[in-house]
Amino acid sequence: MKLHYQCEICGTIYEREDSAKFCESFPTPTPKFQVGEVVAIQLRYDGVVQDRILSMKLVYGHNYINLDHVDLERYPNFKGIAENYRIHEWAYQFANYHQITKDRAYDSIFESSLEKVEAI
Ligand SMILES: [Zn+2]
Repeated sequence: MKLHYQCEICGTIYEREDSAKFCESFPTPTPKFQVGEVVAIQLRYDGVVQDRILSMKLVYGHNYINLDHVDLERYPNFKGIAENYRIHEWAYQFANYHQITKDRAYDSIFESSLEKVEAI
């Protein structure tokens, strides 16, 4: 049996305990949007569309670093580098899939991809 460790904030599973603890050391960001708000999403093919937020969850940020591959004991300066990354980030779920890049569709979009708009 192999033990795994989970960050209690974002739920990411790690092989190493220090990786999970490091992930937990990053703060929970304040959400910019709330469930029920209508936001604008920039799409690849259809320009900007508006959609209502159905739910939201904290995830491991999309500026991805694999903490299991970082020896935090050996490279203590890495903690300083990681401060520049947003490890915990809000992802918002929508009713529809949206094509936001060439290859990928999402029903979950990060805050950085969204703009607040007036209610429809
Ligand atoms: Zn985490």
